[in-house]
Amino acid sequence: MKVKVAILGCSGRMGRNLIQAAIEHKSVELVGGSVRAGSSFENFDLGEIAGIGAIGQKTTTDYKALLAADVLIDFTSIDATLEHLDWCQQHNKALVIGTTGFSEQQVATIKAAGNNIPVILAPNTSVGVNLLFKLLEVTAKAIGEHTDIEIFEAHHRFKKDAPSGTAVKMGQVIADTLGRDLNKVAVYGREGITAERSRETIGFATVRAGDIVGEHTAYFADIGERIELTHKASSRMTFALGAMRAAFWLSEAHAGFYDMQDVLGFKDN
Ligand code: NAD
Repeated sequence: MKVKVAILGCSGRMGRNLIQAAIEHKSVELVGGSVRAGSSFENFDLGEIAGIGAIGQKTTTDYKALLAADVLIDFTSIDATLEHLDWCQQHNKALVIGTTGFSEQQVATIKAAGNNIPVILAPNTSVGVNLLFKLLEVTAKAIGEHTDIEIFEAHHRFKKDAPSGTAVKMGQVIADTLGRDLNKVAVYGREGITAERSRETIGFATVRAGDIVGEHTAYFADIGERIELTHKASSRMTFALGAMRAAFWLSEAHAGFYDMQDVLGFKDN
């Protein structure tokens, strides 16, 4: 059976890809899509916004029009997502959150919503990136204690948060594996630091340029050799298709707080 989904924030970069992915995905039926109040894309055909031709469904700013959906998919902004979270709890709808940049307190709010509805928080919905998280765990276990660990990420010029949610998650996976507290060991900039790097730190470097869809590398560097684990996204469709997979999985889940590792079954191993 197909899962009925609605896309929040249809006119965004991800929104357009999500519409296309929902139409192409065999396990998903697209039943609606929203744009923010006052958007010039209100009442636009969803297919036309996605650049794949009219499909006879229009964007809305009225959430009542999304009640037919079982799962809502949200790649919008922090404030909008927190509002959508409230709405989903009021109307008992499952929610896939792809929006990034939440504070710890905001993440706690999203986790608490898991007591009422099924919710996935996925700062990166790509299957490849989530496999990378698993590889980071294996690598950190094997050589993390005696290597210098640095994380590099690059994204397009329009991205608002830095470092990316994915880079932070990479650091979190490594820190958790090594029993370190990321809040204490993360170094987000080295300007003004004159001492040598201390072993337990995890450095982050950020590039924002042009139309880079998303690149992430973790370095595990020793004297004489280094391992680099890299993921490169070449199209936003990878995130959009991963979000559809998440929506399908969530439609069969009980209320709870989940991530892509649950969706992909990596937590069973
Ligand atoms: P974008 O700015 O192109 O799109 C965001 C859209 O949300 C805009 O069209 C805006 O009008 C819309 N919006 C804002 N408030 C709204 C509301 N109340 N109702 C409906 N729509 C609303 O940004 P983007 O590049 O598409 O990224 C969106 C978010 O997704 C960012 O947080 C980004 O970091 C994240 N992202 C996540 C992944 C992932 O894999 N999880 C991948 C790419 C981007």
